[in-house]
Amino acid sequence: NEAHRRNIHNLRYNDREGIDPEHSYWLLERFKSALESNALDMHFQPQVCLNTGSIIGVEALIRWYDTELEKWQPPDIFIPLVEQSSLISPLTDYVINRACDFLVAFKENFASTFKVSVNLSVKNLQDETVLKALENVTKRTGVNVGELEFEVTETAFMGDARLPKVILSKLAELGASIALDDFGTGYTSINYLRELPFTALKIDKSLILNLSEGSKEYKLVAASIKMAEALEMDVVIEGIETSEVLNLLNIAEAGFGQGYLFSKALPQDEFFTWYKQNYQKGMIVR
Ligand code: C2E
Ligand code: MG
Ligand code: MG
Ligand code: MG
Repeated sequence: NEAHRRNIHNLRYNDREGIDPEHSYWLLERFKSALESNALDMHFQPQVCLNTGSIIGVEALIRWYDTELEKWQPPDIFIPLVEQSSLISPLTDYVINRACDFLVAFKENFASTFKVSVNLSVKNLQDETVLKALENVTKRTGVNVGELEFEVTETAFMGDARLPKVILSKLAELGASIALDDFGTGYTSINYLRELPFTALKIDKSLILNLSEGSKEYKLVAASIKMAEALEMDVVIEGIETSEVLNLLNIAEAGFGQGYLFSKALPQDEFFTWYKQNYQKGMIVR
């Protein structure tokens, strides 16, 4: 039973010999405690219109400080574990709620149109929980679904894609924007772009980080921008770290971008301070 399991957990956990605290089981156990005790953080990374320099929205990114190991655990490590557990629904529920709280606070402070992007996992598209969560949060906060964007990767559509397509189409019908995340890393099929209601293409940072003039990566990025434009989709370039890369992207007429050149993901208060300093000028300093 639960108490017994807990005892064994504590016993083995206190006796570190031979037990790896990074082991996925213990990691997930500690993540669960963090989620249940409201100890997770949301950070927000600005998305910038590369043409005008204005800040059009943020991507909400989960942050977990593992108090046991006294370090930040990277989402790339724990999200895949969480996805394989039943915790993914409550996590996404939490993320959507924090994203909408952010939006409400942002509009109170800055009274402007703004967009918040939330990452969904493959598993979130396999049942209707996310639709229910969305209904509840929009009722609670008054946020308009049109102010939200959901980012999904194409792995969501591999295997039996019927249900993911249904859920995604419902989100789109409700007015949400839908971005295809991590474009350029997986097996994106023309078919997904053909059949699914994507409104934006997010080009993965792996193509961007060391972008150089005349490179194959540059040609791929430029061609992807053209393709998105033809499909009337927005393009968001991820991983813009240097002004050299920004200049190249401007030559390729990229629409929107995010990256450390502008800002990393920040806690809500820090984001507001950053926004005041940068947006007041109508432009990002770069
Ligand atoms: P993603 O959705 O592709 O998010 C972009 C990642 O790139 C973020 O990493 C962000 O911090 C990082 N990044 C942004 N600008 C730069 C840059 O200029 N240079 C470099 N090197 N990196 C940059 P993060 O926050 O560690 O998240 C990693 C992944 O974990 C995300 O990739 C997403 O797939 C997943 N993730 C994060 N938060 C959530 C969440 O709330 N829910 C779900 N389901 N997944 C999440
Ligand atoms: Mg994303
Ligand atoms: Mg991405
Ligand atoms: Mg990614």
